[in-house]
Amino acid sequence: MSRSSRFCSAANLDRRVVAGYHSIDLARFALRPGEGRRLDLHTDPGPLELAGQRYAVAGDSLGVRLDLSRTAAGYAVRLQFTAHVAGPCMRCLADADVSVEVDAREVDQPESEDEELRSPYIEGDELELGSWAHDALALALPLQLLCRPDCRGLCPVCGASLNDADPAAHRHEPDPDPRWAALRNLRSDQ
Ligand SMILES: [Zn+2]
Ligand SMILES: [Zn+2]
Repeated sequence: MSRSSRFCSAANLDRRVVAGYHSIDLARFALRPGEGRRLDLHTDPGPLELAGQRYAVAGDSLGVRLDLSRTAAGYAVRLQFTAHVAGPCMRCLADADVSVEVDAREVDQPESEDEELRSPYIEGDELELGSWAHDALALALPLQLLCRPDCRGLCPVCGASLNDADPAAHRHEPDPDPRWAALRNLRSDQ
């Protein structure tokens, strides 16, 4: 299962308060082994940090679907949601808004010796939904968060956005090479 605790601390430190669930007491569903429950909930994954920039999920809270199953040895859970993530385009710094699909699963068998079978998001009967949504979203983000797939980025000379200009028309005069200038002066002396 995903071990992405490197994202947990940021989520825990900087979590906005919104109406919704951050952690859920799984015991209150009183599921017996083999039984399951589907829940449509809201949670807050908190801000995301990517390449030194800050990204946030659009909207006040994030709608998620949670499929919860009680197993003989613990729980199996599946989390699905679609999030709109907004922040600066990694090429041109204009506003970017990308849609990210998340489908994550966790298994928790507290008695297991195998670390893969113990979820970092389930402690006893408490599911840390906000932290899990945060980490699952961070892992599902594209490597390049762009304002549009073919973003042309910024001009390396003047820093203007090349999305606004026709790149063929946006040119800078090359620096005149001083050796050519010297040669021209020689010629004009003759
Ligand atoms: Zn861009
Ligand atoms: Zn330029």
